[in-house]
Amino acid sequence: MSTFKGKVVVVTGGGSGIGQTTALTFAKKGASVVVVDISEKNGLDTVQQIKNINGEAFFVLADVSIPEDVERAVVKTVEKYARLDYACNCAGRGGVQNTVADYDIDIWNKVIAVDLTGTFLCMKYELKQMVKQGDGGAIVNIASVKGLVGDAKSSPYTSAKHGVIGLTKEAAIEYGKTGIRINAVCPGWIGTPLVMNYVGTEESPIYQKAASLHPMGRLGKPSEVANTVVWLCSDEASFITGSAVVVDGGYIAW
Ligand code: NAP
Repeated sequence: MSTFKGKVVVVTGGGSGIGQTTALTFAKKGASVVVVDISEKNGLDTVQQIKNINGEAFFVLADVSIPEDVERAVVKTVEKYARLDYACNCAGRGGVQNTVADYDIDIWNKVIAVDLTGTFLCMKYELKQMVKQGDGGAIVNIASVKGLVGDAKSSPYTSAKHGVIGLTKEAAIEYGKTGIRINAVCPGWIGTPLVMNYVGTEESPIYQKAASLHPMGRLGKPSEVANTVVWLCSDEASFITGSAVVVDGGYIAW
């Protein structure tokens, strides 16, 4: 696969889970990585892990649901590295489990603000910079299988992730002729530290239940999502835009 030497990538939610593994994967391939996260501790940890493998990275503290924060993250990226080639918009959060009629309005608004509006804000400022540079680029938004199929009791998350896929298609059409490719990735259950804390070991009944949702009979690995993100940004994916690429061990194939 292409190397990313001389390329600059922003990874939001880069302090943990899928975002952290994506940041490290880009760094291993030679990209300079801007780790954006609401958690300073986690973001700095990712930067340290990248430095430990002689990679190049720095951290920007930002809440993706705040326009000024996102704009500042892109400004700082350009101040430091003079350009922006790729972005993985991964920052996200879940809500609580409840039915629509009983769903708490504040929690609804918070999930939509981070997962949907946050993705819009990231693309807004990333695209402005990429268009200004005039030499293409690639953006990958992290959606979910819940962007493609429904689930019970997670209405804001499912709605936001459906919205992320719509937003991805919209932007892909608008910017197609600029050479900027915009895609989404839809993971099934991925064994990030947070998810593994919840499901427990592979022998536990909760893990077994989660695994059974996937025809492959297991949860995915963060690296399996990260490798897809990096591939979508590479020249090997040069005619792919507006797609929602499913990385789900068959979850939506039933
Ligand atoms: P994670 O481990 O919780 O990582 C998400 C990171 O984003 C955390 O560092 C979190 O900080 C940060 N973040 C949260 N809100 C933010 C905000 N407003 N601004 C900036 N950063 C923020 O989650 P993950 O499991 O890797 O998930 C990453 C993405 O993949 C999410 O969009 C999620 O919906 C999607 N996804 C995950 C799975 C899965 O099974 N893991 C499946 C499908 C889709 P804090 O920890 O401080 O909140």
